[in-house]
Amino acid sequence: VKEIGKPERAVVTTCAYCGVGCSFRAEMRGQQLVRMVPWKDGKANHGHSCVKGRFAWGYANHKDRITRPMIRESIDQPWREVSWEEAIGFAAAKITKIKAEHGPRALGGITSSRCTNEETFLVQKLIRAGFGANNVDTCARVCHSPTGYGLSQTFGTSAGTQDFDSVEDADVIVVIGANPTDGHPVFASRMKKRLREGAKLIVIDPRRIDLVRSPHVEAAYHLPLQPGTNVAVLTAMAHVIVTEGLVNEAFVRERCDWDEFQDWARFVADEKHSPEFLEAVTKVPAADLRAAARLYATGGNGAIYYGLGVTEHSQGSSTVMAIANLAMATGNIGRRGVGVNPLRGQNNVQGACDMGSFPHELSGYRHISNADARALFEADWGVKLDPEPGLRIPNMLDAAIDGSFKAIYIQGEDILQSDPDTHHVASGLAAMECVIVHDLFLNETANYAHVFLPGSTFLEKDGTFTNAERRIQPVRKVMEPANGYEDWQVTQLLANAIGCGWNYTHASQILAEIARLTPTFSGVSWERVTSGEPLQWPVNEKAPKGSPIMHVDGFVRGKGKFVVTEYVPTDERTGPRFPLLLTTGRILSQYNVGAQTRRTANSVWHQEDVLEIHPTDAENRGLKTGDFARLASRAGETTLRVLVTDRVAPGVVYTTFHHPATQANVVTTDNSDWATNCPEYKVTAVQVTPSNGP
Ligand code: SF4
Repeated sequence: VKEIGKPERAVVTTCAYCGVGCSFRAEMRGQQLVRMVPWKDGKANHGHSCVKGRFAWGYANHKDRITRPMIRESIDQPWREVSWEEAIGFAAAKITKIKAEHGPRALGGITSSRCTNEETFLVQKLIRAGFGANNVDTCARVCHSPTGYGLSQTFGTSAGTQDFDSVEDADVIVVIGANPTDGHPVFASRMKKRLREGAKLIVIDPRRIDLVRSPHVEAAYHLPLQPGTNVAVLTAMAHVIVTEGLVNEAFVRERCDWDEFQDWARFVADEKHSPEFLEAVTKVPAADLRAAARLYATGGNGAIYYGLGVTEHSQGSSTVMAIANLAMATGNIGRRGVGVNPLRGQNNVQGACDMGSFPHELSGYRHISNADARALFEADWGVKLDPEPGLRIPNMLDAAIDGSFKAIYIQGEDILQSDPDTHHVASGLAAMECVIVHDLFLNETANYAHVFLPGSTFLEKDGTFTNAERRIQPVRKVMEPANGYEDWQVTQLLANAIGCGWNYTHASQILAEIARLTPTFSGVSWERVTSGEPLQWPVNEKAPKGSPIMHVDGFVRGKGKFVVTEYVPTDERTGPRFPLLLTTGRILSQYNVGAQTRRTANSVWHQEDVLEIHPTDAENRGLKTGDFARLASRAGETTLRVLVTDRVAPGVVYTTFHHPATQANVVTTDNSDWATNCPEYKVTAVQVTPSNGP
């Protein structure tokens, strides 16, 4: 970071990387950011931060940033820089023509979990009210959509149950399918502090993540399950809890549907769900499974934290519901120190989901078929809404290939790199008549675009982000947008060019509209958010000061719902051609596909994605650390450098997906969660063979 002199002013804002949502003081000298200082009064971080939030903001001024709009008639032509007026006119003409010729359902869009609540809300409004269809989706489709489905089925709301501070009262912490040290570092430090104070830790993960054994922290149990067997592990734990009489019957009788509980209890009590019977499936020693289940049920306050290792599976939604079942059966819901807590990946993935980014839901998770909810929006927006749910991302791509879907507006999302089965994504985009990409950089998806609209960074806009604990926090404009517009303004330009007639002049007006139309946000205002008041939704008449902990006196849905979750093996099987299972994850210094972190000084900390392989599997293939290996699956292949390590079990390999050169998603298949289409990134049958390099 270049020293450029003493700061002259400071503005409190929120980190734009992960779902922890750390608060920072952006210290400025003129229009230049001097440094980001973690804010001691930040409610999510209490003055702490990780390297990304503190140092990885250089991308905001990177030379790769595109600040002038560009258009082209076809993707084999070069880009042509044009005025904003011409670019918006060009895009609007295409949208209007396609709508006239093919109807509104030929149009759609994708909101961004990197953008603010206000920007996300406007994109889905543009698609529903301007385009006239519900073909809106978001990157949560490929990460936490099973959380939305699973928690809404069981508890009645699509969000984590606790605030971060609640971990201070946990006695047993269960981490499943998450690697907080790398993915959510500031919260991981809180968790480690509690563990050092004596809380017990259970890690359920195929890989020996840092938490299993790090300075002064050692897991009581690490259950290194076979990738794809989460539901079997959780069912075996439930079997122990039910058959050994460890159910909190008073809680279940009072708070949950008793008949559904009994159905579930009968199911899990079956001998074929015992740890001993399922050991062959899970590869977890039955004794460890039994001991872990006993510890969770009897060790005091039990808090479960989970990540994409739970959701990105063909049984992602079932796994979320299996976790909820365990928490309800043991009474670990509704007070500090307990709960079911998804560790959200992106800074505003919770907010993007809350704002109506799914094709079947309006903001606040109200189904589009709900006539009362629709009527509220229709009266406010002055349009009739389509009552049918729209298409999800993979279905939009399928429909494009079939010829019925023609145009898409993608804000702040690189689906070619981040979505599964890259070839399918490319075919879908190539088949469209109009692809509008609204982003900071010419990303991989932009290779298929006809219109490129330059985006603005989190430093160049006002608005709000909602973090993993449902905390609504301010994002403040500390410098003028390099492209001249905040992202919500660009969406408004496009909306007005197709006849919407919007006239927002500040993000606060959009937040006021969100509050007017969304019962969980009805008490939220720009004044309250920017005053530093802690606000975790729901913030409304029933909870005027917000809700750090949910389901305190009763579940949002009424009675908690036990759902029978039967383990169904993934279609992705190993065999002679593809004998190993690949699973994927992240590293601390990089972020997702690396569009931002690779354009900052911290890219030197992590130069490439590597393939972790167990010593036995490496030896069998003649591979050593530093060699190149070809990684091939049924979907595709790539080349990676090898790291030999016993962090992974024999038969399992692991890599990250931060660098476009390696494109790990070329290898992942199009298998997906049965309920939400969330891709099965975490289980791919692969072969690894020596290679001379890319
Ligand atoms: Fe930003 Fe997350 Fe790091 Fe906090 S923990 S500084 S929110 S990346």
